[in-house]
This record gives sequence, C-alpha cells and structure tokens, in this order.
Amino acid sequence: MSIDTSRYVNPFSVNTFSYCPRRWYIQDVFKFFSHNEHTLIGRHVHERREEINIQKRSEVYLVSHKWHLKGKCDYIETEDKNFIPVEVKKSRDKFGVPIHNDIMQLVCYALMIEDVYNVPVTTGFLIYAGSRKKYEISIKLYHKSQLNRLLRKMDLMKNLPEIPKRLNNKNRCWNCSIHERCLSTREDHQ
Ligand code: SF4
Repeated sequence: MSIDTSRYVNPFSVNTFSYCPRRWYIQDVFKFFSHNEHTLIGRHVHERREEINIQKRSEVYLVSHKWHLKGKCDYIETEDKNFIPVEVKKSRDKFGVPIHNDIMQLVCYALMIEDVYNVPVTTGFLIYAGSRKKYEISIKLYHKSQLNRLLRKMDLMKNLPEIPKRLNNKNRCWNCSIHERCLSTREDHQ
C-alpha cells in the first residue's frame, strides 16, 4: 500500500516558517511565490553547484514517514560511514554566525537521513556562498526539539483562517521577496 505523502512538509518550508510565519502562509497556503534579487542569486548558486569544491552526493531526494518531511538535500557527504547533510545558501552568514532558520532546515535533513538510512546524524554543514563560509553544525537534541515545535505550529497554523501577523523586523522585511504581496494581503484574505 502506497503512503500518501502529499501533506508532508518540505524543509524549505520549515526554513520559510522559521524566518516568518506570515511569509510561509502566503507561499505555502496561498501558493504565492515571487523571486527577488536574493532568491534569483540563490537559484544561480544551486545551478552552479558543481563549481563548489566539496565531495558529495548531490540533490538527494529524501522522504521521512516518521517526521512527515520530504525534499531534496543539496548534498550528503559520507565520511567514515558518517552521513553529513550539507545545505548551500547564496546569501551571507550573519555577523559571523549561521542563521537560525537555515539551521532548522539542516536539522530537517539530519532527521530525514536518520529515518531513511537508519544511522545517527550528529553533524551537518551550512555553506554561505555569499561570504564563502562553511560552518560545521553539531546537531543536538535541543535542535530536534525546536524543529518538532516548529512542525507542530505549522500543522496548527495551516488550518487557521487567519493569516499570521506581519513581523516587526525591518531587516527581515527588507530582504523578503514577497514584501509587496505581504503589504497588499489583508488579514481576512481578500
Ligand atoms: S514582508 Fe516581513 S512580515 Fe511580510 S512576509 Fe515578508 S518577512 Fe513576513
């Protein structure tokens, strides 16, 4: 019997939700998506991934029935039988540290690999092409708890009739690819 995975969540959506629940709602529930300079550069980076010097299996499609997650991991490095997910971002790190929503996306891949390959995953890499930085992330229990909370919130919120409120965060809104759509979206969805 085949399992219906149509409602499984993509790690990219987890990243979006962690960045801004309203943006996630507009993109995933309303199905509206718009590219801006940042997302277009992101596509370019992914299209040129072979130029990035890492040894890997690229674009590995994973489905986790345990976590109800599905999506493509940019790369999986294997080292001494360890599986290490790698996520590549076009952007820069922030003040010398990796960005929380990117870590949440990476943790999704870690949990998916654990479920699919039945191996523990304790490490992942985040690469920021914009600043040419590569961060090793130790994946801890608290990361998994944070992700679990996010997934439960997403599950609750996708069935709510109210769109989440706008963020009070100028930096995020300034860099947001859908800010015009966000401003024109009324809270009653009209
Ligand atoms: S403009 Fe700001 S509040 Fe609106 S979706 Fe983007 S990040 Fe969220």
